[in-house]
Amino acid sequence: MTGITVGFLIIGVIVVAAVVFSVWLIAMVLGLIGRTIGALFGWNRPPAPLTRPSYPCPRTSCRAINPASARFCRRCGHELLRRQLSRQAAMW
Ligand SMILES: [Zn+2]
Repeated sequence: MTGITVGFLIIGVIVVAAVVFSVWLIAMVLGLIGRTIGALFGWNRPPAPLTRPSYPCPRTSCRAINPASARFCRRCGHELLRRQLSRQAAMW
């Protein structure tokens, strides 16, 4: 009697492990397929790198990060001086 119970328990554990493994495998395969399709159609392009040159506003009360192409601070409107940036860069 107990031998049969232990046998069922072992079979049950194996079945549960197989089900969990199958679900994991299906999820992995679906994810791979999704990524492959996305790569084929160009959906999953990585976002543009945030390494574009940018520098903070020279006003200490603002310090907003502005793109390098900006001439004036986009938050406070203060004129952005590139010389100041190069001086800061030289200090580093
Ligand atoms: Zn500013």
